[in-house]
Amino acid sequence: MNIKQTNKYPTKKIVDFINHIRENKKSNILIVPHVNPDGDAIGASMAIYHFFRKYCNTNVVLPSAFPDFLSWIPNAQKCINAKKDPQKAKKIIENSDLIFIIDHNAPDRSGDLESLIADSNANKLMIDHHPNPQYPVNYEISCTQVSSTCELSYNFLQSIDVNAVDKTVAECLYVGLMTDTGNFVHNVHPDTFRIVSELIDLGIDRDNIYDKVFNNFSLERMQLLGFALLNRTEVIKELGVSITSLSKEDLRKFNFQVGDSEGFVNVMLSAAEVKSSILILEKDHEIKLSFRSKAEIPINTIAVKYFSGGGHRNAAGGSQQGMSLDETILKLKKVLNEEQHLLTNNPIL
Ligand code: 5GP
Ligand code: MN
Repeated sequence: MNIKQTNKYPTKKIVDFINHIRENKKSNILIVPHVNPDGDAIGASMAIYHFFRKYCNTNVVLPSAFPDFLSWIPNAQKCINAKKDPQKAKKIIENSDLIFIIDHNAPDRSGDLESLIADSNANKLMIDHHPNPQYPVNYEISCTQVSSTCELSYNFLQSIDVNAVDKTVAECLYVGLMTDTGNFVHNVHPDTFRIVSELIDLGIDRDNIYDKVFNNFSLERMQLLGFALLNRTEVIKELGVSITSLSKEDLRKFNFQVGDSEGFVNVMLSAAEVKSSILILEKDHEIKLSFRSKAEIPINTIAVKYFSGGGHRNAAGGSQQGMSLDETILKLKKVLNEEQHLLTNNPIL
């Protein structure tokens, strides 16, 4: 049975199916966030983990490590990082009866776990808020009209059990609601605030979570940001585009850790002249690109069409294989010139 839906709430069929799995104590449940997981992916995964572990054998397997600023999330250390422990990850995937695909909607976003998940006979339930879902799953909760996968996960858990969201689950969900909206600036809807109000009623400490996530960077990360803005940022004024690029050598000099570049791409958007901002990072085996834009500029079109990527209209990402950093920058500039109608013909700006 394949159940797809574009509603914010799970259908009765999905709820009945999940409760059937939950009632069998022998069920093995697996939760998989996307590669390079962010606050929304980890928050939703851990919220679902905290609920289901009370009933069944439940694991979270990460395609790659999460950033240090999320390590305080209760039980985050129990996540299995497939990069560090591939054999354990493989065994868990092979033995699972239900796999949650969290905060991503395409198989390649499961990173190195893609083929193991494809080969698994487990039922798969995707919970995600990105456009154009293309993950072959049995059940799908996919809706772009929400702030985050944590928002969808709140609705999902509430539908399974009205008491599912306790204080710990609420803390996890708040992380995704807060990070995916840039602390409630982008992509917020009336329901987002209704849910936040419920989470606050459950006793979460909003200020403390904000501090742990946004005020917890290393000094080297702050210096890398300064260096990037001063020495590695170019603004193409006629296109309203800012491009920031960091080489492996730049990152090494500032002792780069996973998550350190989180938020960099948003900074240049604060300039009035900048309507789109792009961050390019040289990684070991690929070049990673992050795209952000203002108002109606569909920057995800560039990510999808030219950099095998995806994401939302104003926040997207992609990658480039087989090219150097400099070649990628040249390709990007060429593409931006070709697609300048997307970047400049915007009546709102
Ligand atoms: P970020 O720039 O913060 O890494 O990602 C912004 C948005 O784009 C997120 O919604 C993220 O899931 C999506 N995204 C980032 N990189 C990729 C990618 O390589 N492929 C796809 N399909 N989506 C991406
Ligand atoms: Mn998300």
